[in-house]
Amino acid sequence: MEDKIKLVKTFNPVMGCDIGCSYCYARKINQRFKHIPDFNVPTLMEQRLPQLYKGKPRVMLITSMSDFSSWCKNSWCDEIFKALKDNPQHEYILLTKRPEFCHYSTNLDNVWLGVTVTTAKEAKRITEFKKNVKAKHYHITFEPLFEDVGELDLENVDWVVIGAETGNRKGKIIPKKEWVINIVNQAKAKNIPITMKTSLIDIVGIENFIQEMPKEFEKIWENK
Ligand code: SF4
Repeated sequence: MEDKIKLVKTFNPVMGCDIGCSYCYARKINQRFKHIPDFNVPTLMEQRLPQLYKGKPRVMLITSMSDFSSWCKNSWCDEIFKALKDNPQHEYILLTKRPEFCHYSTNLDNVWLGVTVTTAKEAKRITEFKKNVKAKHYHITFEPLFEDVGELDLENVDWVVIGAETGNRKGKIIPKKEWVINIVNQAKAKNIPITMKTSLIDIVGIENFIQEMPKEFEKIWENK
């Protein structure tokens, strides 16, 4: 089975985040490779932006080492979005855990702005995100899934990602199958593509494992 998540590349125009999630792997990567001296200070990696202007069309997660909320608070956000606009051949995925600090509007077709929800309490982030951020494509990431997230506001959502925590953190939570199925049922009712991370195969069973992708991403991969 091809893991479609592996087709999504990472590209990080910003490094650093002060949110401090206990399961953060980006901080560990920075400790190891010393990209920036202080991970708590989000930093624009300006020298990387020209890299977007070359290469074949790609689907890229561009916030794997930062949170979109810090972009919104910084003047360089517009500079990055100009590069995204100049490169419509790529699809860009961005995420935040702090929608209350995200006030941004874009009409770019190739930008997928999203919010992370890990618990039922955090589910209200979805409505707040859609209120504060105006974008052509919204997506929701339920990873790491820590509990049943309950009823969700999935109106106008174009993509849902679900995954379990990986690694060996003390206190790591293994999601229950019914927590995953609850999200799946709500997304299916709205015809939203669902992508499960491979961390869920043993939990939901291969017969329930889903890796659907937005058609815009598939188009890029078909032409590889
Ligand atoms: S939001 Fe992301 S980058 Fe920031 S601390 Fe949490 S996991 Fe790390």
